Amino acid sequence: MWQQGWRDQVWAQLEQPWDLIVIGGGITGAGILRAAAKAGLRALLLEAQDFAFGTSSRSSKLVHGGIRYLRNFQLKVTSESVRERERLLREAPCLVEPLEFIIVTCRGDPAARWKFGAGVVAYDLMGGKWAHGVYSPQQLCRILPALGAAQPLGAIWYYDARVDDARLVLRTLCEATAAGGAALNYAPVRHLLRNQRGEVCGVAVCDAAPGGGDRAREVMASVVVNATGPWADEVRAQIGAEARLRKSRGSHLVFPRSKFPIQQSFTLLHPRDNRMMFAIPWEGVTLVGTTDLDHSPELEAAQPEPAIQAGEVEYLLEALGHSFPGLALTTKDIQATFAGLRPMVNTGKADPSKESREHIILCENALVTITGGKLTTYRLMAQQTLKAVRRRFGMSPRFDPRQATFDCLPEICAPCPIEPGALARLRGRFGAETMALLNACQPGELEPIGESPCLWGELRWAARAEGVVHLDDLLLRRVRLGLLVPEGGLGYMDRIRAIVQPELGWEAARWEQELTDYARRWKQCYAVPE
Ligand code: FAD
Repeated sequence: MWQQGWRDQVWAQLEQPWDLIVIGGGITGAGILRAAAKAGLRALLLEAQDFAFGTSSRSSKLVHGGIRYLRNFQLKVTSESVRERERLLREAPCLVEPLEFIIVTCRGDPAARWKFGAGVVAYDLMGGKWAHGVYSPQQLCRILPALGAAQPLGAIWYYDARVDDARLVLRTLCEATAAGGAALNYAPVRHLLRNQRGEVCGVAVCDAAPGGGDRAREVMASVVVNATGPWADEVRAQIGAEARLRKSRGSHLVFPRSKFPIQQSFTLLHPRDNRMMFAIPWEGVTLVGTTDLDHSPELEAAQPEPAIQAGEVEYLLEALGHSFPGLALTTKDIQATFAGLRPMVNTGKADPSKESREHIILCENALVTITGGKLTTYRLMAQQTLKAVRRRFGMSPRFDPRQATFDCLPEICAPCPIEPGALARLRGRFGAETMALLNACQPGELEPIGESPCLWGELRWAARAEGVVHLDDLLLRRVRLGLLVPEGGLGYMDRIRAIVQPELGWEAARWEQELTDYARRWKQCYAVPE
């Protein structure tokens, strides 16, 4: 997708006027870029850090209606989301996969069984499917003997879906660029450009990649879309718009599957405040989350990226101790952590969990802002954004709301060197590039890395063709090793170096510097806080 020299090629194109500039390379921006490029617009995306660096690599990895929003009567967002979930399951198979969820009900709270039962029925009715039921205490004990919850009365099961969030962004961007869109990472928009009427008509961007020098440009466009998620207010402030968002931090713990062995997801209620949480099997590990806490400007300024706080580790472990006492999980069992910021429209609720997850579209001085919402609803958000700005383009772009979320993948006719499950996983994550990835693999690179399902060859391909600028782009967002193996993968660095250093064309000194930076960043933002 992004072969050698791609950055210079995109920089050389920036002089031309664009139909659309998208600020922000998370799932919202990527979805808009793809829809715009498919409609024949000249569209450019600018991302300040790495693609998916923001919230879109830090979600709970669910494509879901949000059963917990039903408790707050957020019916619109839930029904839109379940419909989008069904669509993604059809159109992004192997990237978005169905996942069974279990809600354990206990003797102390028999009413919960009826409440949750009614919830899953409503959920299925909204999604137009019927896939739920109950487990007896005996069946539950067979599913997870270590559950040991206080006298389980039984359980309710239902279906949602899981995804690799960063790969969803990457695959969307890959299709957007194949359709003629352009995307640059490490290209922060420093300020907005305005015409004599005060309307936004472009952006000033600079090159923040090593070797980018002092490259900076003013780039003009018919429409500028602000898709900067939790940072949308910072961009809007440049046109004097009043702040609308509340940044809420959600943090997760990551356990190796050996310590927390589940095949289905579990929906838990925290004993302290009755908040709903999830334990999710994902890519060979188990994720537990999330918290929902206001993220202070002081904390944001003090950290290079959002990170879990000690109190949150305690809070999440407390819920696990309550629901899974048999596992006796402690901080020593945690393999990694990660945290992200929710872009939520602020209505002043005392508890951030009660704020709506709906998205908003604002048109202010010709700047279009799309924020809030969920990973699950990104396709819908892209459609609505482009519909809102359609008349501002000189031409009449044809936005087709029925267009599939992803292009059809070519059949693989040649004999395949890996087993069907591993191939399906690669096709979900790398789409049309899968055969090129397999052909690039050298002997031994079709083997998985440690206990993770990732192949060594994924590292080679991502380093060669996926716009990697820093080592953390590769190990946290292209291939998710930073979360999937112990110590963020530091124990595998000799072999990683042998594969990726030549692909990235880094001298020894650059490798050493990248490794030092990655190790420091991982300890600061992805390890258990000291
Ligand atoms: P982001 O992904 O944050 O992207 C915005 C980008 O803008 C960033 O990469 C940032 O670097 C860039 N940017 C900022 N300023 C500039 C600038 N000046 N110039 C250029 N670029 C800039 N949703 C679900 O559907 N399922 C889930 O399971 C789920 N779990 C979640 C769990 C947590 C803890 C959180 C926090 C959210 C979760 N969500 C979930 C919500 C979902 O992740 C977000 O709604 C979504 O990822 C937001 O995407 P975005 O593209 O709008 O923002």
